Amino acid sequence: MNIKNYINGIFINPTEGNYIDNYNPSNGEVYSQIPNSTKEDVEKAYEAAEKAFPSWSNTALVARSKILFKIAELIKGKLHFLAEAESKDNGKPISLAKAIDIPRAAANFQFYANAITQFSSEAHESIGLNAMNFTLRQPIGVVGCISPWNLPLYLFSWKIAPAIAAGNCVVAKPSEITPMTAFLLGEICTEAGLPKGVLNIVHGLGTTTGQAIVEHPNIKAISFTGGTKTGAHIARVAAPMFKKLSLELGGKNPNIIFADCDYEKMLETTVRSSFANQGQICLCGSRIFVEEKIYDKFKKDFIKKVKQLKVGHPSKPNTDIGALVSKEHLEKIEAYVEIAENEGGRILCGGLEVTIPGYENGYYFQPTIIEVTDNSCRINQEEVFGPIVTIMPFKTDKEALQLANDTKYGLSSTLWTNNLNRTMQFSKQLHTGIVWVNTWMLRDLRTPFGGQKASGIGREGGFEALRFFTEPKNICIQYE
Ligand code: NDP
Repeated sequence: MNIKNYINGIFINPTEGNYIDNYNPSNGEVYSQIPNSTKEDVEKAYEAAEKAFPSWSNTALVARSKILFKIAELIKGKLHFLAEAESKDNGKPISLAKAIDIPRAAANFQFYANAITQFSSEAHESIGLNAMNFTLRQPIGVVGCISPWNLPLYLFSWKIAPAIAAGNCVVAKPSEITPMTAFLLGEICTEAGLPKGVLNIVHGLGTTTGQAIVEHPNIKAISFTGGTKTGAHIARVAAPMFKKLSLELGGKNPNIIFADCDYEKMLETTVRSSFANQGQICLCGSRIFVEEKIYDKFKKDFIKKVKQLKVGHPSKPNTDIGALVSKEHLEKIEAYVEIAENEGGRILCGGLEVTIPGYENGYYFQPTIIEVTDNSCRINQEEVFGPIVTIMPFKTDKEALQLANDTKYGLSSTLWTNNLNRTMQFSKQLHTGIVWVNTWMLRDLRTPFGGQKASGIGREGGFEALRFFTEPKNICIQYE
């Protein structure tokens, strides 16, 4: 099956006619082809978006909102079909795609269908000067949205929904590794009545197609989610053109566990926050710090629970851990286990590739726990983005805080305690964009989402995304 670009409301082949193989991670086989789009394809997408902009940006909010609601409804109606496509393309368990990925993609459109009708700007009266200021928030024009492979439709739609809700037209590129649900979204948008050219989806490599979007002089804002290295590169390319940038990047998130927590809830949640989606979520808590008092107990119980996780084919209903997204990623994970061992890390469970009968060429890996004694080791400092966590004991609050903050990343952190003072002290002093206390990945779409330090700049979510996708203008009127 050939995936096509979605430009100006129709599916078209790439200009040069070149394609890239798309793999099914569960069996290692090529199952579709995606366009290897060039600068020319991006230009076509840009031209369609630019042409659509005057009309779309002047379309009444209720009309825009209605189309977004319709897209959400259509996604919900195709839940099983889209979940199957996502699971096949990414390797994630079908149960996860059905429970999280696809419902959230629908929720993204639904949320911004509502939010745009509630979005307002400010007025400032200059008392004594007979002047009234108001802030006009206008759509930017043509914007670029670039997303990664771990939560394909979930993150793709997290950018597109606020961008079009705010009146922009979009040139978007999903990850070349997981293009399928983005392709299917094109059809859904047409069916929902989204005017042609408002959303254009161009497939291809990051270094060519993605780069062409970032380099395009008239694509005025880039919303990017992906690795920190790619984010830094994009910032370098975009800075001289003074583009607006939102960069959601990597993480090395601490999970800090105190003895006074609700132990059973913490244990259940920690298994999830470590290994959900094969550990391929930017929010996974990959560095687990445990108060010394309960360290041995936690270690024993955690190992026991993790050993019960079933690694299996993504389509099987009892699979907890599906396939990793690609062969390259599997090799990266294996390399990190070796790095950790060479640094003195002790493998407490896992650490090996798994062969699933009938799917011998799939990319499966055991959920892995590594005990470390030094937070400065590479396995605790570099983002692995797979089914590997480390555990390490601490004695005092001060030590736990220092360990948690001792990384270049600052995306999210999780704290397990029932002590209110400690909760407040940690919440204020953790250098992360999100702090979860006695929970993990509980998301309210109104909240600002994003990281500090090397985890990025800018915030998505709620009105933050609508602010990003609009240009504020101060209108100052003096009157007699
Ligand atoms: P990458 O940075 O490799 O790629 C992300 C996207 O950027 C892909 O679509 C990729 O295309 C594209 N891209 C690559 N190079 C360029 C370029 N030069 N110009 C423009 N676009 C480019 O990340 P991954 O896909 O490997 O995703 C994993 C990373 O994403 C992890 O670091 C993870 O932490 C982070 N992430 C962050 C989140 C957050 O909210 N902070 C959420 C989810 C993931 P292609 O795939 O074709 O290379």
